[in-house]
Amino acid sequence: MVKAIVGANWGDEGKGKITDMMAGEADIVIRFQGGANAGHTIVNHYGKFALHTLPSGVFYDHVTSIIGNGVALNIPILIEEIKSITDRNVPMPKILVSDRCQIVMPYHILFDQYEEERLGGKSFGSTKSGIAPFYSDKYAKIGFQVSELFDEELLKEKTERVCDTKNVILEHLYHKPVIQPAELLRTLHRYRDMIEPYVCDVSAYLYRALKENKTILLEGQLGTLKDPDHGIYPMVTSSSTLAAYGAIGAGLPPYEIRQIVTVCKAYSSAVGAGAFVSEIFGEEAEELRRRGGDGGEYGATTGRPRRMGWFDCVASGYGCRLQGATDVAFTVLDVLGYLDEIPVCVGYEIDGEIVTDFPVTAKLEKAKPVLEKLPGWKCEIRGIKNYDELPENCRNYIEFIEKRIGYPITMVSNGPGRDDIIYRKSSLSGK
Ligand code: GDP
Repeated sequence: MVKAIVGANWGDEGKGKITDMMAGEADIVIRFQGGANAGHTIVNHYGKFALHTLPSGVFYDHVTSIIGNGVALNIPILIEEIKSITDRNVPMPKILVSDRCQIVMPYHILFDQYEEERLGGKSFGSTKSGIAPFYSDKYAKIGFQVSELFDEELLKEKTERVCDTKNVILEHLYHKPVIQPAELLRTLHRYRDMIEPYVCDVSAYLYRALKENKTILLEGQLGTLKDPDHGIYPMVTSSSTLAAYGAIGAGLPPYEIRQIVTVCKAYSSAVGAGAFVSEIFGEEAEELRRRGGDGGEYGATTGRPRRMGWFDCVASGYGCRLQGATDVAFTVLDVLGYLDEIPVCVGYEIDGEIVTDFPVTAKLEKAKPVLEKLPGWKCEIRGIKNYDELPENCRNYIEFIEKRIGYPITMVSNGPGRDDIIYRKSSLSGK
């Protein structure tokens, strides 16, 4: 049985926490897209960790952690990350890396930086981890697959060929130092030696795992609104953030994905540029940022302050729809306990018209939020285990949002830890 854990919003919804929690009952956890450009924060009995590449199941002995073919694999970062957790007494996890996974090259990171510099104020707000140049090369068919590291003849020929192309751009567009093929080849030899112990034919491994009735989790990065097709293009990421892509980025039959847990945060936050209709500013935003997440809303990878906003029913309903949510995990609800009233964005006003279907980017830029205020509950809800014990106004907030987004909220997360979770029966389940 395959279950996906994906984001409904702009990322940072708390997918890492939900995956870490659900991995208790799983055999395999797979990352299927994205790279080391975003992070998941996980709090468990080993401490607090920011993972960038490793799947969030690495803290369990019984879990096999897999980097799927859809990931942008930065080999030195993966190796460092493994060391960073084992140095903190986490037992060495069982890790497999797809032989079809492609490699983030040192020049991808440089091109990302150079392009942002060149674009100046018109930049895409990239995290400069090389992700966009990486995926461009993958689809231009000049990327390097892990399997190719083990074919010396091919590697040498391809390194020279790729350097020829890259050097034209480096010299004439960016006016930067060129790449030496021999040096690049040496780097790739180092990468080969680092990754060799983990390389695996992942789709064959998963085929067998499914025959043995193993439970497999697909762990998404970012969220629907950063998807290159269905998100706020062009302020999106370069690989699909949707559960459907899990089948491709891991190498699984799509019909095996039976549960799609779509993680949705109880308020909004976003990093990077792009339209954000329910965004708030000033002291109001600063307070939510300070109190938000677990120790403030700052990027797990970049440390950048996140942009803050109220819950957006239009964006989140759309986010759940494109994911095909079977369950919504509603997270970070405990943070809102300080507010007397909680505004919720229930529609967008565009050119004098109110819409509830999430529009394309050009229209989104013009949208103004239609806000409705719900009464706050003014107390701490951490530690509560049963839905009925939540304050009435808190339940009303959840149920109001569930109705507006139209997808069943079956889990409510009221703290960053593994056990801070309330399961709930929703009348919308089975949809
Ligand atoms: P991800 O990329 O979707 O995993 O999200 P991040 O890790 O970037 O951000 C989520 C943040 O919220 C992390 O700091 C988590 O520890 C924290 N978090 C997750 N769930 C909860 C929750 O229910 N309550 C609180 N207070 N923090 C949470």
